[in-house]
Amino acid sequence: MGLRTILYGYRKEHLSFYIIPEEADIVRQIFREYISGRTMKSIADELTAKKIVYYKDKCTWTKNAVCRILENKHYTGDYEYPAIISRKDYETANAMKSGKGGKRESDTSEIALLKRKMFCSECGHRYTRRKNYSGTRERWTCPNQCKLSSFLDDNTLYEKLIKLLNRIIDDPNLLHYNDTTGELYEPTLELIRQDREIDRMTEQKNPKFLPIKSVIYDAASNRFDCCRIDPSKAVTDRLIEYLNTFEKLGTLDFSLIERIVKTIIAHTDGKLTIKFMNDKTVDEEDKNASSNDSSEDCNENSRQSIING
Ligand SMILES: [Zn+2]
Repeated sequence: MGLRTILYGYRKEHLSFYIIPEEADIVRQIFREYISGRTMKSIADELTAKKIVYYKDKCTWTKNAVCRILENKHYTGDYEYPAIISRKDYETANAMKSGKGGKRESDTSEIALLKRKMFCSECGHRYTRRKNYSGTRERWTCPNQCKLSSFLDDNTLYEKLIKLLNRIIDDPNLLHYNDTTGELYEPTLELIRQDREIDRMTEQKNPKFLPIKSVIYDAASNRFDCCRIDPSKAVTDRLIEYLNTFEKLGTLDFSLIERIVKTIIAHTDGKLTIKFMNDKTVDEEDKNASSNDSSEDCNENSRQSIING
C-alpha cells in the first residue's frame, strides 16, 4: 500500500483540509459495515475486490488500513479536519473494537434462539441478523448473500412466526402426516450390493458356507440399520397435546418455538416454512392454500365420473 501523507478522505489546499466526497463515502461505508458486524478483513477484501483506489493507483486494502480509518478521530471533525462521520458512530465502532461496552451487542436469548433455528432455503446456511447503519433496524439475511425479495426485520419475522404458529394452534391436526406410508425401510446401495452378492453366492454350484454366512450376517445387520422406527406418530401426538393448551398468540412465544420448532426455513420470496419437531413442515398461508382443497374436488369429480361411467 503506497504511503499516503494526507488522511484518506481529504485533500489539502493552502494549509486547509477539504473532503473528497468519493473517499468520504468509503469512510462512511467502512464505519457502517463495521458497526453492522462485518470484520475489518472482509471490509478490506471487498474494497480491494471493487478496486476502490486507496492512494494514487493503489487499490489494495488491508485490514490495517481499515483499522487505521476506524481509529482515526479526525473523521469526527476538529479544528483541522471537517467531519465525515458522527462522533456516535466513531465511538460505537471503537467500543466494538476495543471490546469495551458494546462489543458486537450480544444477542438476547430470543434472538440467539431464532439464529439457531433459522436457515436459508437456497444454500442451507444459518441466517444472520445485522443492524443497519444507525442501529435502528435489523435485517435477517443469508450470509452467503442468497437473494431475499423482501426485507426481513425483527418485526416482520415475528409477525410471520406468530401467524404460522397461530395456524398450528388453531388447527394442530396440520401436524399430522397425510400419508403414513412413509418409507420405513430404505436400503442403502451397500445393502443392495450385498443382497446381490448373497444371491450370486448361493446360486453357485458348490456354495461355500462360511463366506456366505458372513455376508448374510453383515447384510442382516445393515438391513436393521436401514429400518427406522417411525417416531413421528408419538412425537406428533405429544406436540398436538401440548398445542391444545395454547390460546392464539398475541406476541411471539419463544419457549413455544424452543419446544416445537425444529427449524425455520427462509425462502427467497420472503416466505417462511416451519419444520416442527416431528419433521412435518408448514408453510405460510397464501392465497393458493385454499385451492389445495380442489384436489379433493378433483377426486370428487373423478369418483363421480366413475359412478356415471
Ligand atoms: Zn443462502
